[in-house]
Amino acid sequence: MKRTMISLLACVLGFWMSLWAQDQAPFPAPPEKLTHRATLVQENESGEHMIIKGVVFHSDGKTRYGGLVLYLYQTDASGLILSYAFPNCATKSSTPSADLPQDKAFELRRTAMVRDQIEDRGIADTAVLGAMRRVPRHLFVPPELQDLSYTDQPLPIGLDQTISQPYIVALMTELLELQKDQKVLEIGTGSGYQAAVLAEIADSVWTVEILEPLATSARQRLQSLGFAKVNVRCGDGYAGWIAHAPFDRIIVTAAAEEIPLPLLEQLKEGGKMVIPVGAAFSIQNLILVEKRHGRITRQNVTAVRFVPLVREKPIR
Ligand code: SAH
Repeated sequence: MKRTMISLLACVLGFWMSLWAQDQAPFPAPPEKLTHRATLVQENESGEHMIIKGVVFHSDGKTRYGGLVLYLYQTDASGLILSYAFPNCATKSSTPSADLPQDKAFELRRTAMVRDQIEDRGIADTAVLGAMRRVPRHLFVPPELQDLSYTDQPLPIGLDQTISQPYIVALMTELLELQKDQKVLEIGTGSGYQAAVLAEIADSVWTVEILEPLATSARQRLQSLGFAKVNVRCGDGYAGWIAHAPFDRIIVTAAAEEIPLPLLEQLKEGGKMVIPVGAAFSIQNLILVEKRHGRITRQNVTAVRFVPLVREKPIR
């Protein structure tokens, strides 16, 4: 009991000292926001020494930024602190989680992405938040852009196409109010990332991509990552996917000049569709479409900017 109390006291003291030490030295601002705290308490074999490691990243990006903070202190048999040496505020790295194994580092960034870019902007659907936390976005971007994969922006995926900004993926998914027994059609597979997020929630995902190289690489990527519920087809998505219609939900991830009629026809009664509508390379409207008693309602959600939904299969 006494030992625990002393450990706790040392821990609090150590933490405070580390912040004090960080205040004394200017540290470089981290490239992106990350707030993560962890404490690990270990004892050596004789039970005399304890090491506490705290990884502390501050979120304001301006004042304090801690890398790996190491506290070392030595206790006698009764748990009395004999000496301590701390803190070692190692802050050399500009990558917040450079000391961690790569998968764990990406997971931390993903957690921060969901909290700072998605939850903080009002997305509250737990199924959507869970899906965004699980899908490894860094594996859906070109390798040279992996370091940017959890930043607040769309990224190029080749052939002049883009993977959408994480927040937009989450917003469109939330608007669908997707249920786990539902069948979803996506137009514009791109990297396959949005399809993977949908597959984390829905029963099956049917996705159409007009550019053959993108359709092939997305199919392989989704297969190798275990997203077996996603079916990819190469073709013009304007016509939907008649063989598997009707769909409970439809999501279009390229901007159409108007809502394609075949998609309205392939939407189930009571179904919802999310689609950006507007001219290419200008500001478009994200529209939520609902079909109730055979009638179509449209609701403007927000301004967005998507690559265009092209009508004809381009020759490449
Ligand atoms: N959802 C994607 C991003 C989509 S970018 C992701 O998560 O990565 C838009 C995609 O729509 C591009 O890959 C583009 O080639 C595709 N596209 C454009 N017009 C299309 C059409 N008529 N049918 C199917 N796909 C189309």
